[in-house]
Amino acid sequence: ERSTDPWHEVEQHVGHYGAPYFAPDIIDRAEGSYIYTEDGRKILDFTSGQMCATLGHNNPEVVQTIRTTIGRLDHLYSGMLSRPSINLCTHIAQTLPEPLNKVIPLSTGSEVNEAAIRMAKTVTGRFEVVSFSRSWHGLTQASAAATYSSARKVGVPCAPGQFAIPTPYEYRPDFTDTEGKLDWRKELDFGFDMVDAQSSGSLAACIVEPILSGGGILVPPDGYLAELKKKCHERGMLLIFDEAQTGFGRTGTWYGFQHDGVVPDILTLSKTLGGGLPLAALVTSDEIEATARERGFTFYTSHVNDPLVAAVGCTVMNVIERDNLPSKAAQKGDRLHAGLQRLVETHDIVGDARGRGLLQGIEIVKDKQGKERSAALGDLITRRCYELGLHMNIVCLPGMGGVFRIAPPLTVSDAELDDGLTILDQAISDVET
Ligand code: PMP
Repeated sequence: ERSTDPWHEVEQHVGHYGAPYFAPDIIDRAEGSYIYTEDGRKILDFTSGQMCATLGHNNPEVVQTIRTTIGRLDHLYSGMLSRPSINLCTHIAQTLPEPLNKVIPLSTGSEVNEAAIRMAKTVTGRFEVVSFSRSWHGLTQASAAATYSSARKVGVPCAPGQFAIPTPYEYRPDFTDTEGKLDWRKELDFGFDMVDAQSSGSLAACIVEPILSGGGILVPPDGYLAELKKKCHERGMLLIFDEAQTGFGRTGTWYGFQHDGVVPDILTLSKTLGGGLPLAALVTSDEIEATARERGFTFYTSHVNDPLVAAVGCTVMNVIERDNLPSKAAQKGDRLHAGLQRLVETHDIVGDARGRGLLQGIEIVKDKQGKERSAALGDLITRRCYELGLHMNIVCLPGMGGVFRIAPPLTVSDAELDDGLTILDQAISDVET
């Protein structure tokens, strides 16, 4: 017998999975930039769900693709190919520069990073992995080992073969020049000195986001990624870019790495590709794929090459291309960033605004002078925004309370952006007073 109060059932039967909080409503439906609660409230979604609703919720063309595909193709034996998965691989390869050319369609971000790390180990015959101190690459074993943990510090490997390098963070630099600005060359040299000192000589890969999202919306300084790639290749390591959040137009270019023109050896794509369905893709060069194949690389999962989600991925890419969503994300991102910058100017508790395209962030501090990050104020603002009809979220890394990721769907309208900014401004004022 079901109770009429769903929260009773939540308490009884919904397992805890570590989400920072449950929204106080049960969600009934979602459309475009909005979610609707069971009791009829309409809430603007500035998180694109968990960053996956690239084209807005229930995008009509995505819904139509599911409708036309589902009676014909759903899921197949993992060794079978269908037109949608072949088209998906081809289309992804066509959007990428050389030598990225071979695509393996998978399901989630953790899984595709697991595959990328396994591929790098297979190809190099080595096992050690480097990532940023403020990283998030997933929660399966290898992806989680490359993800932030409180025990995982620069210069202190917490598990065999896992190393962290400092994260370039211009608002709070660890290494400074004479003017107090981030000295990223010194920082990167230090990071790799630490890695070299501790490595057993088995460095396989370095995995990073080309623009950090969960780590705090951190855009690496110009020249950083090129130097990182150089350091990796000098050591015989493969460079993996994780574009779970930055892929498919979000930052104003198709892929986040295009701002710097630094092409990785392996690229992982997930969240933003599936239009809300679980779809991911590993992309690498012919050469690396051939070596992996020779050496017995295996990543043979239940949902590899699944046709239904592949068809959706094709639609997502077609819409991004047809509607010029990367350049729209750049324009809308400028509008959003300007609005956020005004919040920095008008509120003492908004310390910084930063980001690229429609991947923006603000950092909430106790006051501008002291720059102390405030998780408590961040939580109050999250709640107040929700009451006022705007869903916002704090970035996922523990210890980063107070940093908001602001990432509406790429289809967001100017009016929706302005509405969200007005609510955010109001919520910050309410919390400040
Ligand atoms: N990589 C990045 C950069 C992410 O932000 C996330 C999810 N927050 C993941 C990987 C893991 O993806 P998933 O949750 O789909 O496994």
